[in-house]
Amino acid sequence: MKFVSTRDKSAREYNSYEVIKNGIAPDGGLFFPKENVCFSKDDLASLKDKSYAERAAAVISKYLTDFAPEALLYSCKAAYSKEKFSKTPAPLKEAGGKTYLELYHGPTCAFKDVALQLMPRLLSLSIEKSGVTGDALILVATSGDTGKAALEGFADVPRTKIMVFYPEGGVSDIQKKQMLTQKGKNVSVCGVKGNFDDCQTGVKNIFGSDNITAQLKNTGYFFSSANSINFGRLVPQVVYYISACIDMKLDDGKSCDITVPTGNFGNILAAYMAKKAGAPINRLICASNKNKVLNDFFTTGIYDRRREFYLTSSPSMDILVSSNLERLLWLVCGPVKTALYMKNLKENGIFEVDADVLKILREDFSAFYTDEKNCNLTIRKNYEEFGYLMDTHTAVGAYAADMYKKETASENPMIVVSTASPFKFSPAVCRALGLSCGEGFEAMDRLSEYTRLEIPDSLRGLRTEKDRFYKTVNPESMYAEALEFAISAK
Ligand SMILES: *Cc1c(COP(=O)(O)O)cnc(C)c1O
Repeated sequence: MKFVSTRDKSAREYNSYEVIKNGIAPDGGLFFPKENVCFSKDDLASLKDKSYAERAAAVISKYLTDFAPEALLYSCKAAYSKEKFSKTPAPLKEAGGKTYLELYHGPTCAFKDVALQLMPRLLSLSIEKSGVTGDALILVATSGDTGKAALEGFADVPRTKIMVFYPEGGVSDIQKKQMLTQKGKNVSVCGVKGNFDDCQTGVKNIFGSDNITAQLKNTGYFFSSANSINFGRLVPQVVYYISACIDMKLDDGKSCDITVPTGNFGNILAAYMAKKAGAPINRLICASNKNKVLNDFFTTGIYDRRREFYLTSSPSMDILVSSNLERLLWLVCGPVKTALYMKNLKENGIFEVDADVLKILREDFSAFYTDEKNCNLTIRKNYEEFGYLMDTHTAVGAYAADMYKKETASENPMIVVSTASPFKFSPAVCRALGLSCGEGFEAMDRLSEYTRLEIPDSLRGLRTEKDRFYKTVNPESMYAEALEFAISAK
């Protein structure tokens, strides 16, 4: 399998090692497989009796054909071990007529673990195979969950250093504590005075500068990315959609609908890739919070980021530039239009797709959004009526799934992706349940006491850990911070 950039009409080809090592294409586009991957019915049936790690290796080997199958299987087994994921990485749970795909049983209690426990191993293999000199400097912009999951995945991985930038005031107390206490010799964390988009733009600008890249090379590093723009993040996510479809035990010819609470459009794009590859998926429901730029895009064909930015109780979805949408655009309308749309977005903050493009998109995607009030009501209703406790992000999804069912009367089984442990967002979940509580650990205890559910070990243990990182900088100073870290960590 060869890869191309979503903005390159000459379609220069890259191998999987280059794709994972570089993260982003030289023209600023995103890498994507040149050919469509296809799983036949027999391929899917053969995965049925396999473990999650074996399913992962089998699925991923179709995309990353340069990797030796044994190396992939070894990496998947290490990433998806019992030590890392107390249950299997992607169990299904039924409640209130929907099936929740719970992706938060990993070390940081959010779905990004599923990709980020594996991706550093893929990067290590890629560095080795591509024979580059120097170490990878990974810069991550996070709206909360990516940062911790990336730190956890990369901590003490040889030949890598990782620096995470988070928006000051844009992440929860617990998310902040998780990051600031991260262990490992090769890690650093820095706050940014701005929102998530400022962090993401800062990282993109650093990556895009030839000058900076040259300077970094002199210090013995090359850039890499662990954001969901890296294809190495995306491909492990395809696995759990295929795995879920198998575990749903659908009758022959039947398919399911999947609702994904969405921010950067990475997770739902992985669901679309699973569908394109032959998984029995009917419709994808894109669920947004009050930052409903994607909802508006799928409704009108206009993507307009020039709008007020809201801080919501689902902060990992507080995003106005959904980077992975670019890959969907490329799939539907090719590199020339995609490059133009992205240019318009960068220069004017807006683009509009042609009517025929919108029509194609709407054949696979529906979109809904959930305000704070309905998010809270959804949490409360599902707990009180069905005994199912969900976090704020999952609630945005559950509400959208209900809206979709109401609008279409679809009888397909509905999978809602459950992206974080409710304990990770305890204050908001407590408030939704009508409990009075403080912030941080106090809320966590209150939630556990009220629901009689156990706090996950990794969150409970945070309480006694000491902060290791203290800095907060302006967006303009992100590069200087990264450089200082690279040099000091040598
Ligand atoms: C990152 C995240 C999301 C959004 O996922 P995208 O891939 O950015 O669309 C949703 N929920 C939680 C808990 C997250 O951490």
